[in-house]
Amino acid sequence: MEYRFLGNTGLKVSALSLGAWVTMGEQIDVEASYKIMAAAYENGVNFFDNAEAYAEGEAEIVMGKVIKKAGWKRSDLVLSTKIFWGGNGPNDKGLSRKHIIEGTLAALERLQTKYVDLIFCHRPDLHTPIEETVRAMNYVVNAGMAFYWGTSEWSAEQIREAYEIARREHLIPPVMEQPQYNMLHRERMEKEYLSVFQDYKFGTTIWSPLASGILSGKYDNGIPKDSRLSMDKYGWLLDRYGKTDAFVKAKNLGVIAKELEISMPQLALAWCLKNPNVSTVITGASKAEQVVENMKSLDAVGKLSTEVMQRIEGVLQNKPTPVDDWREK
Ligand code: NDP
Repeated sequence: MEYRFLGNTGLKVSALSLGAWVTMGEQIDVEASYKIMAAAYENGVNFFDNAEAYAEGEAEIVMGKVIKKAGWKRSDLVLSTKIFWGGNGPNDKGLSRKHIIEGTLAALERLQTKYVDLIFCHRPDLHTPIEETVRAMNYVVNAGMAFYWGTSEWSAEQIREAYEIARREHLIPPVMEQPQYNMLHRERMEKEYLSVFQDYKFGTTIWSPLASGILSGKYDNGIPKDSRLSMDKYGWLLDRYGKTDAFVKAKNLGVIAKELEISMPQLALAWCLKNPNVSTVITGASKAEQVVENMKSLDAVGKLSTEVMQRIEGVLQNKPTPVDDWREK
């Protein structure tokens, strides 16, 4: 396993990590979650990602049980949670001081841990002043409930505002973002956030590197019955991707993977790992075999030569146009 610094912090995260969305507490039980987490841990994964919203808190409960059962040393792990969707009450959602602190306390209890290493604001909250959120996160970190805080799917402008407020008020600034990034979804990581990487050296923990499994090539000949896209609750994913050329691109990328003698998931994950602004690629898995296969993607990075990357661009046809940077004028 390779370990990368999380942006400008002194924290090292495994370049490949494992998350709980869809799977833990929903698609798979504690036993199966144990198997995927153990397979990841044995391959050197130290970072496990979660959120208060996943399976309405059940994903944190399952992860907490697995960690307890495995008996892993807490200091060997980097655990995260994300706050935003905590329940149905008027104060159970968003990034108010009240929900951030109550949500964090509840998440820690479900995870059976005194602190998480990373805590994310799961989305921007347009109804709460950013300064209130920055002050609440500063409190959470100073109270020892989390070590670092960051954002997820905030715009570069929102990140900049939070960072500058923190600096101005002598508070702890956000240090990482959790954006979607994969071969089909590139704009934020490759364009919008470039100034955030340059100015603040932000770390990134990227999500859905296989576009919910589409880039694994498993949908080339229809929808396997035990797959994510076959789940009723996630029919919206099929609707969304079905309207695009995602499946055709995945099939065409499969030809390149075959020539390189790697699997399609390995090609798609290696492609993400190659981006120097990626601190860790959060993988997802419903089975331990998938984890074992995905972990080998680190070995595949070396196969992505300039020529191979150009062939991939030829299939994708979605390279973001360069930023018009006013500083260079
Ligand atoms: P992926 O896009 O990598 O999708 C993972 C799914 O793809 C697996 O659950 C599995 O689904 C399938 N899969 C994985 N590996 C293979 C393989 N080798 N062969 C065949 N199928 C495979 O990642 P996720 O969408 O799961 O996201 C990863 C993590 O990112 C989440 O767990 C969560 O922690 C985080 N996340 C954060 C978000 C945010 O807003 N901040 C949003 C979404 C995710 P199956 O077997 O069921 O088909």
